[in-house]
Parts: sequence; structure tokens; C-alpha cells
Amino acid sequence: FTDADVYQQSFDPREYLKEFYSLSDSQGQPNTLLMQNLRSLFKMFSLDGLRGDTLLDVGCGPTIYQLLSACEHFQEIIALDYADQNRRELEKWLKNEAGAFDWRPVVKYVCELEGDREKWAEKEEKLRKKVRRVLKCDVTKANPADPVSLPPADCILSTFCLETACKDLATFRSTLRNIGALVKPGGHLVMVTVLQETYYTFNKQVFSCLRLERKEVEEALEGAGFDVKFSEVQPYLPGDVRTDCEAVLSLVARR
Ligand code: SAH
Repeated sequence: FTDADVYQQSFDPREYLKEFYSLSDSQGQPNTLLMQNLRSLFKMFSLDGLRGDTLLDVGCGPTIYQLLSACEHFQEIIALDYADQNRRELEKWLKNEAGAFDWRPVVKYVCELEGDREKWAEKEEKLRKKVRRVLKCDVTKANPADPVSLPPADCILSTFCLETACKDLATFRSTLRNIGALVKPGGHLVMVTVLQETYYTFNKQVFSCLRLERKEVEEALEGAGFDVKFSEVQPYLPGDVRTDCEAVLSLVARR
């Protein structure tokens, strides 16, 4: 099991972004997994009630794609992750620093989904303004943002984090309770997670993953006091040597 300190010591955000977040690969093949996830996020954040003041992105990593539709519905975003280098990489983009990852193709794709591809620069600016803080967190802690105590949020978002952060199902369940406590009663949790994955690789490194079934995720959410409002499984095309993932689960739940 690769725990949070392995992420801190050896997760390379630049290599991760290059491997998984280019809209097409070096052979010009489209990144269908990414596009599918962007469509799911767009759909979920279009649902009734998914709006409010504050959204927390838990286990944000070095990425912003997960916030592109979300930022249209929330006023303030706080991004949280365990690994310092991932938060730094994210801040590089937020501050528009030289050498930051080029998210433009992804931003344009989401703008196209939302009806106007030409609005990409406006969306980038909006997102940069809305992300107010980037904080360290450990989702396995009772107060994930410790020593900071955050006021309860309207929405929690988490993409591809909990399955990497939890060594077993019991930890997954308690982690959902930890991050669930960060959302107001009546607030939402939006989650994207892989199913039946035990590892993923990039940059010649292997990261372990808790092998989850759809039912286990839904039951853990209910156990943490949530009602599942939307749940969709999309099969993951076999033949990807980088992972043994079989499907991606997108979920919206209400506390
Ligand atoms: N959300 C991003 C990153 C997923 S990679 C995306 O959608 O691509 C998994 C992330 O979880 C990494 O950034 C890693 O640093 C973070 N992580 C791993 N264990 C964690 C823990 N215990 N608490 C918080 N974040 C953790």
C-alpha cells in the first residue's frame, strides 16, 4: 500500500499531468477517459441544488479539470491535498506562473460542453479568482485540514483520491465520515472514483489503489450519512497497461 508519505516523497506532478491530462497523447489519440470525466462532472454540476458559497476539493492533486464546471456554481473554492509538490504545482497555474501546465485544451473542451468554446479565457480567470486557499490535508484524519478548522462547506468534491488514500474498506468508510463532516447538512458530495483498480503506474512508479465495488462505495456513503442522488458507472476500456481499472464511478450524494 502506497501511503500519503509515498505521495509526498515520490509523486511527480509534472509527469502525472503529462501522462493523464493531455487531451491527446503523443500519437494523437484522444484521451477518452479524461473527456468522459469532464462530461460526467459537467452533468453532475448541472444537477438541481448543486450550488452554493463554498466548495472544498479534497485530494485535488496538481489538477484543475475537476473544478471547471464546479466553479460556475460556487463562489469560493478551497483546494486541499497532502503532497506539498502537488499543491505547489496547482498554485503555479493559479498564479499564472511561467512553466505552469497548459490546461487550455481541457478548458476549451469544457467550455464547448457548456455551450461556448470561446469563453475559455474568461473561465480560466474565473477559476483563478475563486480558488481562495490551497491547504494541506490528510483525509484519514478526523479533521482532515488540521490544524485549520474549516467552516462547513456547501459541497465537497473529490476525484481519484480516496481509493489511493485508503488501505482498506474500513479506512475508506471512516475517511468518508471525516470528509463528510466538512459539508453542511443538506450539502453535497461529488465524487469520481475508479472501480476494481488495484494499481496505476506512471513515470516507472506504481501506486496502489483500494479495489472498490460500486455497492461498497454507495454503502459507505450511506453509512457516512449521505443519500446517493446520482450514480453512474462507465466502463474503462481494457488494454491500458498503466492500470487495471475496470470502470469509473461518478456520484452525487446529499448529506
Ligand atoms: N484529484 C486529482 C489527483 C488524484 S491523485 C485528480 O483527479 O487527478 C491522488 C491524490 O491524492 C494525490 O494528489 C495525493 O497527494 C493525494 N493523497 C493521497 N493520500 C492522501 C491523504 N491521506 N490525504 C489527502 N490527500 C491524499
